[in-house]
Amino acid sequence: MQDPTPLPQRRGLPLHTRIFIGLILGAVAGAVCQATLGAENAGLQAFVKNVAQPIGQVFLRLIFMIVVPLLFSALVLGVAELGDASKVGRVGVKSLLMTVLLSGSAVALALLMANVFQPGAGIDPVRRERLTLMLQSGSTQAAKSVENAQNAKPISEALLEIIPRNPLEEAVRALDGGLLPLMFFALIFGIAVAAVDAEKVAPLKRLLEAVLAASLKVIDFAMAFGPIGVFALIFSTTALLGTDALFALGKYVLVVLAALAIHQFVAYSLAIRFIARRSPVEFFKQIRGVMLTAFATSSSNATLPTALRAAEEDLKLPRDISTFVLTVGATANQNGTALFEGITVLFLAQFFGVTLDLGQQLLVLGLAILAGVGTAGVPGGSWPMIAIVLLRVGVPAEAIGIVLGIDRILDMSRTVLNVTGDLTIAACVSTLEGRKSVLPAQSDLDGTLRESDV
Ligand code: ASP
Repeated sequence: MQDPTPLPQRRGLPLHTRIFIGLILGAVAGAVCQATLGAENAGLQAFVKNVAQPIGQVFLRLIFMIVVPLLFSALVLGVAELGDASKVGRVGVKSLLMTVLLSGSAVALALLMANVFQPGAGIDPVRRERLTLMLQSGSTQAAKSVENAQNAKPISEALLEIIPRNPLEEAVRALDGGLLPLMFFALIFGIAVAAVDAEKVAPLKRLLEAVLAASLKVIDFAMAFGPIGVFALIFSTTALLGTDALFALGKYVLVVLAALAIHQFVAYSLAIRFIARRSPVEFFKQIRGVMLTAFATSSSNATLPTALRAAEEDLKLPRDISTFVLTVGATANQNGTALFEGITVLFLAQFFGVTLDLGQQLLVLGLAILAGVGTAGVPGGSWPMIAIVLLRVGVPAEAIGIVLGIDRILDMSRTVLNVTGDLTIAACVSTLEGRKSVLPAQSDLDGTLRESDV
């Protein structure tokens, strides 16, 4: 959908390394201050409140301000592409169903793991209260979102409110609970864009692509401020919480990596064995170059060329199906991202003592699947989406500062799943279409691709 937008790099250390250093320094400095001065120390509290928090806020506000245009353009374009998919007929519909199946199972696994292992639990309630108050005083948005979550409506009313009467009004209050209706509008609008004559909507699509590209640039600007922003945010957290926060963070990383590994090697293997009717071991061997590229670049879009080549040369998938599935999937099918978003939202909710009942967890499930569709296939593409899902369920969105510093390794890992998921769908759909693989030499023999089961 759009070109991969690399994060801005200065000479010297890459940006993600500098953000990571910001995290380590901030965590150490905060923990040392907490240990030596004590979290009750008035000077430390004043410093957190008047210096560290506002600096962290600048960083987060740079991200928040672009959420509405980014979300709208990415979701409309993502859905329009999937909508186009259904025009392609059976292949499109099957890809769509596989996307829902794989993303849905990924988020379900995420919710299960987060509930079983409770990575965000165990924070001292008194200290947590202090941190939450501090975050809320730094941001009226966060306070409002908690209030929104507390004023829960009956389910029939809540469901009806997903359909907006005035999408512009919802856009204005997107960070205060208008997100879901706005997403709904983008969904319907995307379906409509796909249904209208392609020539007629081409200028609109180009405009949305431009909005998306510029929005991603703004995220780049925000990320350039990331090392300082993350330092300030994690300093505030550890200064008030001490090492509790760091233990929770370590547990969170382990849970995310374990869940990603389970989905990668169990869920995809099952799909490959029983739907694509291939050997999973062979499959993973054939795509290991693609997995490595995804890991190294953290970008589904940047991995697309490698994936296309592997689909044709190594997996021997029919070119028409693989080109279609992989191109659309690079943006619209992001199972790893959906899984990651599910765990992250639950982790931060546990961290801040926000209890999410079954209904709210199902909401997270739906939002994470949609966010997987709307997330750009670039490094860190999922962060704006996470911020808005957090706000929707009543967790202070400032919380993302806690996990942003260790995001790179998680980003690299979830991108592997995003790309493997596209190849899995391409293999499954090919088999479902009765075109399991294409013998390589046939095109040389008669100039056309002849299909055969091997
Ligand atoms: N980096 C991911 C991708 O390109 C997107 C994300 O989850 O941030 O697939």
